[in-house]
Amino acid sequence: MSSFTSHNFANQKALIRVDFNVPIKNGVITDDTRIRAALPTIKKVLADGGSVVLMSHWGRPLKDIEKKPNLTLADFSLKPLIAPLCKFLDTEVQFAEDCISEDAARKAAALKPGQVLMLENLRYYKQEEKGDKDFAEKLSKFGDIYVNDAFGTAHRAHASTAVIAQFFAPGKKLFGLCMEGEVKAAEEVMHNSRKPFTAIIGGAKVSDKILIIENLLEKATDIIIGGGMAYTFFKAMGGQIGNSLCEDDRCEMALALLEKAKEKGVCIHLPADSIIADKFAADANTSSALSNEIPGGWMGLDVAHMAVENFSKVISESKTILWNGPMGVFEMEKFQSGTKAIAEAVVKATSNGAFSLVGGGDSVAAVNKFGLADKVSYVSTGGGAMLEYFEGKELPGIAAIKS
Ligand code: AMP
Repeated sequence: MSSFTSHNFANQKALIRVDFNVPIKNGVITDDTRIRAALPTIKKVLADGGSVVLMSHWGRPLKDIEKKPNLTLADFSLKPLIAPLCKFLDTEVQFAEDCISEDAARKAAALKPGQVLMLENLRYYKQEEKGDKDFAEKLSKFGDIYVNDAFGTAHRAHASTAVIAQFFAPGKKLFGLCMEGEVKAAEEVMHNSRKPFTAIIGGAKVSDKILIIENLLEKATDIIIGGGMAYTFFKAMGGQIGNSLCEDDRCEMALALLEKAKEKGVCIHLPADSIIADKFAADANTSSALSNEIPGGWMGLDVAHMAVENFSKVISESKTILWNGPMGVFEMEKFQSGTKAIAEAVVKATSNGAFSLVGGGDSVAAVNKFGLADKVSYVSTGGGAMLEYFEGKELPGIAAIKS
């Protein structure tokens, strides 16, 4: 049983760091996924007979106001979240208009079992992002036990995500259920992977993924490289890539990665063929070509038949699968079939017993688009945090709870 699940919160005040950085347009929340993700954690504390103080950031108030003086702090208020939260929790949610004011302290101190208080946006104070110790200590007074359920900010050493944990004794700082799921899935892949372990890395640029690939060379048995970034590898090896995406200044790095993979015995799989287009547009003319023989004036925008067949075979033989980044421009109908086929291969391998983790913005968007998100083992919500974890970095939000 997890330490959060086994903890009894009766008569305790849980100070929960959530990630309520939800999209809000004209005061209306347009996607409440992040709120819903935190509900099991909040509900468990309330069901045990505890009370809850919620804290979150929203946007970048101080930085944005500096750039656009017509904005005010009120434009970054967490107040629009109160009504939906009341509805989700079926109880009143109090609000403190300043996250470290005396009013906030009074309201937190007066909370009775079953009651919920939400603090105003933590980033009204520059001390939050600076990881200020005094600010963290003030916040820490609002709860008996600290729960971090905000995996999306776990890669930041901010006051409420990491620094605050030092003011709670071991056993009084826990991951919430959402965070626990992310950490468990990430550790399963990076530290306890069953072999063969295939990492599927796609997306636009090699430069964004170099650190991940380098780290995965220590862990994976196979690395599939797709998306726009594959063409830098083909160009580096002397191929013709037409107008495909290419980072010329990364060619040497690409060759070095291939060399290192060989030394380590890691098999790198590049897409043998591509769906090519005469322009980067949804209505482009299309054809297919070997990925290292793309004619002038054409560009590779998706992986094609042979590549899909090869990649699917590798995936089907894997016991652990990590997927970050699409295989092509999946946002456009004509260039989505490679990404969709790979998603289906990952789903099939999962149903045959593999553990599959999809993490990082666009591959998550892709599995959602194809309606396959609930058919893989885990879909991570923490874009930047998960990427840094895959790069092998220690995340301050995780380390602070574990120390
Ligand atoms: P990233 O954020 O680096 O994972 O990149 C995701 C983006 O890469 C998506 O918006 C895709 O449309 C884009 N992408 C994938 N394959 C290609 C390609 N062959 N050429 C250009 N862009 C691509």
